[in-house]
Amino acid sequence: MAADSRCIRTSSALSNPPLTLRDLDQLGLERIKGVGPKTLVALEAFEVRSILDLLETYPRRYVDRTNMAMIADLVEGVPALVVVTVESTSAFTTRNNKKMVKVAVSDGTKRLNITFFNQGWREKQLYKGLEVAVFGKPELFNGSLQMTNPLVDPVGKATGRIVPIYPQSEKVRISSSDLATWIEDALNKCAPRGFADTVPQSLLDEHGFISRGDAMRAIHVPESIEAHQNARRRLAFDEVLRVQLMLVGKKAQWERESAGFSHETSGHLIDGFMKALPFPLTGAQKRTIGEIYKDLASGTPMHRLLQGDVGSGKTLVAVATMLASVQGGHQAAIMAPTEVLADQHALGIRALLAALTVSDDSNLFGDRTLRIELLTNKVTGEQRRNILAGIADGSVDIAIGTHALIQDSVNFKSLGVVVVDEQHRFGVEQRSRLRDKAQESEHGLVPDVLVMTATPIPRTAAMTVYGDLDVSVLDELPPGRTPISTSWVHAPLEIESMWADVRSRLDAGEQAYVVCPLIEESEKLEVRSAQETFEELTSGELSGLRVGLLHGRLKSDEKDAVMTQFRAGELDALVSTTVIEVGVDVPNATVMVILDATRFGIAQLHQLRGRVGRGAAKSFCWLVGEAKTPDGEARLEALVRSTDGFELAEVDLDLRGEGTIMGERQKGQNDLKLASLRRDREWVVTAREIAIEILDADPELVKHELLAEEVDLFLKADDIDFLMKS
Ligand code: ADP
Ligand code: MG
Repeated sequence: MAADSRCIRTSSALSNPPLTLRDLDQLGLERIKGVGPKTLVALEAFEVRSILDLLETYPRRYVDRTNMAMIADLVEGVPALVVVTVESTSAFTTRNNKKMVKVAVSDGTKRLNITFFNQGWREKQLYKGLEVAVFGKPELFNGSLQMTNPLVDPVGKATGRIVPIYPQSEKVRISSSDLATWIEDALNKCAPRGFADTVPQSLLDEHGFISRGDAMRAIHVPESIEAHQNARRRLAFDEVLRVQLMLVGKKAQWERESAGFSHETSGHLIDGFMKALPFPLTGAQKRTIGEIYKDLASGTPMHRLLQGDVGSGKTLVAVATMLASVQGGHQAAIMAPTEVLADQHALGIRALLAALTVSDDSNLFGDRTLRIELLTNKVTGEQRRNILAGIADGSVDIAIGTHALIQDSVNFKSLGVVVVDEQHRFGVEQRSRLRDKAQESEHGLVPDVLVMTATPIPRTAAMTVYGDLDVSVLDELPPGRTPISTSWVHAPLEIESMWADVRSRLDAGEQAYVVCPLIEESEKLEVRSAQETFEELTSGELSGLRVGLLHGRLKSDEKDAVMTQFRAGELDALVSTTVIEVGVDVPNATVMVILDATRFGIAQLHQLRGRVGRGAAKSFCWLVGEAKTPDGEARLEALVRSTDGFELAEVDLDLRGEGTIMGERQKGQNDLKLASLRRDREWVVTAREIAIEILDADPELVKHELLAEEVDLFLKADDIDFLMKS
């Protein structure tokens, strides 16, 4: 069948059907006028290998000649755009050894001198006769106007009203105007056949999209700024639709093809647990557990992300999830990124489950308490052998651990639920191994997987980065918490009064964290700075108080000892590097001081702040230090203004763009050339809805052959595996 449909397509090619993106991908660049062997090599270095690559080399910006001024009309101090021809260029070295390039330009009305400092390469770039667009602020110098370090874009022979400026590379010597010429030639050569449009007409109409052909032309040679915007909108939509089709399609396929458990989600264990809770569930916990239980009950393996801000009560949701497996006679595992966190989970989970019993056929009395074991690299010898045996024979109901859980020696009898906490700390590989472990067990069923993260990411980013997972959100904090009051201090007097305030709280029996400056370059330097901070504080601001020090270079039993002391209230303050960042829970700690706060990102600051505000007493977070950039200032101000992780995540996306949010998953997203998760939020949502609609109607995308082909072409199998595994 597939061969047939190919045949039809190929034979009809004789009658020149519109060009698909695959067709364009197979057309070589040697067809372009003026592209010879040398240029082919240069373009290759640019990763431009086909007509498709060329057409997808989009302009970086545009010069709009309608906003253009004449040199003769320039006004001192008023920034303006002039399009000029280079008349002469000369380079000097100044007395303090700086490179200076002077360029004389003219537009027929007058001459203008331009000076560049520290841009030696301008000497070669701006040769006599070159036409360039120059944007800058004219200043009076020696009686005539000149510009210093303006923006310069070569416009070449371009004659249009709006001139596209392409990314240029000094290294491979491809100029913007060469690219513009080649792209225009490619567009002209494609024109007789036109571009095949994969998006159904009804959708184009509904959303007011222009055709792909019009969009391709208008993105490169727009007749107006508005035409460019329409083109960008259409092409960006194509990109996000492809990504969503891939993610939604793969998720559906994975669900079709893997067999999972059908867990019982009511019964004495779960009921007993809920009844014994000392507090009612929050609305969000109820909703989330409901979503999870629906997944657990179905025979399709769950693959769900639980996003919940710090303190939103994820542990309880994790326990409720694991109990469903235990109740049915299977096992559950929870993996945390650090020993401190695994320990804490063990403490918390044991406390939550202490009173529960599970029916046991081998026991005369029919009931036994749950067997919960902690497995980290600290557990050794006899004890370790014991736990491993219990995991293998099924007598361990819940295994809590670090990556020690995924070592070869660990074999579960019947692992039904896997919870991965704070997933951003784990590599993709590690996560998939825990799931694979389960499949090695006797029945070979795929366990249900719940990935928990305390780093909220905006909805549209989640749809893209975690588009192959279902997402639940715990967007409500348990009641009775007083909000954390956050202040940003930088003047010496402010800092002094902050320490006075901290001291008085510690004297009253509360506890504080002091986070040392982040030093990304080296752990060694960071530890040294932590030690220095510790010494300064213990002999200064915190003298006479009981202060502990925690950093990444301590041995794990040393770390443990410090944490235990702090938890027990035997330390008033804990000076620490970011090792306390995730998940640490000490309700009596009410003060968080973050030194040199401007070095941290929004998400990290929010995480750190979440270490306090966990008890009933009012908590305080102090961000210390000057912001070094406007962005840094915006970050700290956002933290002062809001304690809502999702709101902060949106601010973060605005300030930093999507790159950082993608993190290790970035690889699958290289396909977004034009679209931005930030600018195109609304389209991501729409594209996901459309992808679900299209795939519901046609799971294999058979009816949408061209669309399927495009998804295929852009999203390579590796990326898909990559996304599915994590
Ligand atoms: P997270 O892991 O999401 O940061 P935790 O699961 O550690 O949050 O919960 C934070 C604190 O809130 C814990 O002390 C927990 O006992 C408490 N908690 C959880 N759910 C509730 C609830 N529904 N009502 C009151 N307190 C709760
Ligand atoms: Mg937690």
